[in-house]
Amino acid sequence: SPGENMAKNKEFVKFDNVDKSYDGKILVVKGLNLDIEEGEFVTMLGPSGSGKTTCLMMLAGFETPTHGEIYLDGKVISNIPPHKRGIGMVFQNYALFPHMTVYENLAFPLRVRKIPKDEADKKIDKALSMVSLHGFEARMPMQLSGGQQQRVAVARSLVFDPQVVLMDEPLGALDKNLRESMQYEIKHIHESIGVTVVYVTHDQTEALTMSNRIAVFNDGKVQQLSSPDELYEQPVNSFVAEFIGENNKFSGQVMDISGDKCKVKLDNGTEILANPITVKVKGEKTKVSLRPERAIIDPKDKMDNNHKGKIEEIIYHGDHTRLRVDLLGNKEFILKVPNSTARLDLKKGNEFNIGWNSVDCRALDPK
Ligand code: ADP
Ligand code: MG
Repeated sequence: SPGENMAKNKEFVKFDNVDKSYDGKILVVKGLNLDIEEGEFVTMLGPSGSGKTTCLMMLAGFETPTHGEIYLDGKVISNIPPHKRGIGMVFQNYALFPHMTVYENLAFPLRVRKIPKDEADKKIDKALSMVSLHGFEARMPMQLSGGQQQRVAVARSLVFDPQVVLMDEPLGALDKNLRESMQYEIKHIHESIGVTVVYVTHDQTEALTMSNRIAVFNDGKVQQLSSPDELYEQPVNSFVAEFIGENNKFSGQVMDISGDKCKVKLDNGTEILANPITVKVKGEKTKVSLRPERAIIDPKDKMDNNHKGKIEEIIYHGDHTRLRVDLLGNKEFILKVPNSTARLDLKKGNEFNIGWNSVDCRALDPK
């Protein structure tokens, strides 16, 4: 496309120190700073009540920040009404107009924007083919399945060539298989048209599948803004380590720090070697985080940490076997053994050496 070599605006959407309170007392969004690049797919991921929808509502113009500014393409948007912001929306409960056909649902945002009929028809055609619903123009929403209705909602959000599309849990009401296929469908639409998407979900798998970057929300604040792999491999605090993916944790106290290693004395008295991420000084309390696939059962190579663990539970998962192991006082330690590797005598009660490297074992805040 002609714009391909042009520099993308890195601050296409910008939340600048935004606070939001609904009751004048409690801040549900606190000092939010977030820059979204033009054409990027950014997901706000976090538990219920963490402030995600509030952020989308402020960007859409249905709520006003208590403090701070929001910019769209370099312009402050606080004085621009919602329908003039050039923003498309898909919400879980933002249903189609039930008394209008699919065609009329898609024509509506174009009519509001006074697009002439022949041009509107071309746009409706294009939007419906994007979601593979060509030929459904005359259907009423109730004559469509849930998945088809959400595809029409996606088409309606894109039909007027918005600058930004906001999607708030748009797949939440769909069953698992449909949800997964729609994740790819929306991701591919984003890749093909390059519109900026701000997506909200509480489902981490959905966020990891779809996004260029993910902003992890908790308690009204962004905890980490990173690419999916960085979020999983390099969580910056215990909340993110726990919220994204599976996580083994040990609590303990820092005994010694030098360079990229620290010695942590666990609650059961054992010392392990870890990677000091947030810890700075000797004596600090810490929670150490280790991804299940970074721990190796019966390792052939030498590893920084090597300790005996006892198998408590074995679950066969087809491609891998999942072990729950009693290790260094943690009875919930999870290991994943690929089923393609040589078979060990995996039996409940058997003991094995379990090894891992300090670089993968992140000493984080104790919360
Ligand atoms: P999320 O989308 O992450 O679940 P929300 O942004 O909906 O979070 O909510 C954040 C907080 O703001 C919650 O404590 C919620 O109860 C509160 N809240 C949301 N909308 C309103 C509203 N319209 N009036 C008052 N409080 C609200
Ligand atoms: Mg919400």
